[in-house]
Amino acid sequence: MSYVLGLKCRECGKEYEKEPIYVCEFCFGPLEVVYDYQAIGKTLTRQLISSREHSLWRYRELLPIDGEPAVGLYSGYTPLVRAHRLADELGVSRLYIKDDSVCHPTFSFKDRVVAVALSKAREFGFDTVACASTGNLGNAVSAHAAQSQFNGYIFIPADLELGKVVGSLIYAPHLVAVEGNYDEVNRLCSEIAQGYEWAFVNINLRPFYAEGSKTYGFEIAEQLGWTYPDHIVVPAASGSLITKIWKGFDELYKLGLTDNPPQTSVYAAQGKGCAPIVTAIKQNQDAIRPVRPVTIAKSLAIGNPADGYYSLQVVKESGGYGEEVTNEEIIEGIKLLAQTEGIFTETAGGVTVAVTRKLIEQGRIPRNESIVICITGNGLKTMDAVAANIGKPIEIEPNLASFEKHVMGEG
Ligand SMILES: *Cc1c(COP(=O)(O)O)cnc(C)c1O
Ligand SMILES: [Zn+2]
Repeated sequence: MSYVLGLKCRECGKEYEKEPIYVCEFCFGPLEVVYDYQAIGKTLTRQLISSREHSLWRYRELLPIDGEPAVGLYSGYTPLVRAHRLADELGVSRLYIKDDSVCHPTFSFKDRVVAVALSKAREFGFDTVACASTGNLGNAVSAHAAQSQFNGYIFIPADLELGKVVGSLIYAPHLVAVEGNYDEVNRLCSEIAQGYEWAFVNINLRPFYAEGSKTYGFEIAEQLGWTYPDHIVVPAASGSLITKIWKGFDELYKLGLTDNPPQTSVYAAQGKGCAPIVTAIKQNQDAIRPVRPVTIAKSLAIGNPADGYYSLQVVKESGGYGEEVTNEEIIEGIKLLAQTEGIFTETAGGVTVAVTRKLIEQGRIPRNESIVICITGNGLKTMDAVAANIGKPIEIEPNLASFEKHVMGEG
């Protein structure tokens, strides 16, 4: 049973059939999945969702597949951690970490979007899947392609972290390292997508793929007892996650799954050196000015963000803001989260923690309201970023005297 009516242009409203297309023929606006909310509202209840298994597919009526999910059955339903120690450190009263760095096959929130995209690719009859990636998406597509027997082509900028490269290669996709930045990789992939019958998950399947990110927002609301946080800080690359958390929050209320409409303020977090969305927010502009990315937060290094404009609208409409942080602040953010909550996140998570700290210090996020920090990827993939900043092991010889001398400082 499918609740998807079709696709619709976000700009001019022209409607399209369910097809692997992503851009309006008339105005070049992006296409968005349209659901039959009336029909969904008749079946989907809190009880039904709660009775289902702990995966992103517990919200399947709100995901754009027609049949049974076929790929990525175990992703999603990650912990929402009440972060007492980090809250003390930041001087706030109610702080949560939505931790997508765990409980996922490739340890980032990209396993959500790929579960949806590859299930849809199977329905469309593709045998080859592909993506332009800043790292985590490539890992997720590689793993899921291996598991569900698709051919996989992964295109990445050549300067990615070793952890992200190994994290794709181990699944033996066709991994293509392009001498250029993500925006150049993405442009190349758009050209390739026109000539080959491949499912490019973030190009021709983008409308379907992006819907997977809504489940991150659904889970936050469900885990907060079907309510919304007052503030949410979201890392931004293409800006898609920001727009989909917002869409997800909105859908829950529309379907009567929450009692009150979302009043959440949404904040964009980016690294200095690649902050086109944050810059537009701060300068109160409507258009995003593309930049050439220079930041250690490589998973967020998109200089010309596809959903930049729409994420900007969400931030404004919600009464949020944006902030950017330096490489040093990113590393401090990673260490702070590890040393207060025992969560080792990648550079993108360091960005989010450091930006949250900044927004609290600026008084933009009040100290006595509820805050969710989005942690979207795992630190074991970006060890190169912090290795030089965390000290060294104490080296000793294998005897008690050496232990007492060097570790206990005696003798
Ligand atoms: C891709 C990615 C993001 C941002 O995703 P967008 O939806 O493109 O803004 C955030 N965090 C991590 C770890 C990512 O890999
Ligand atoms: Zn249009």
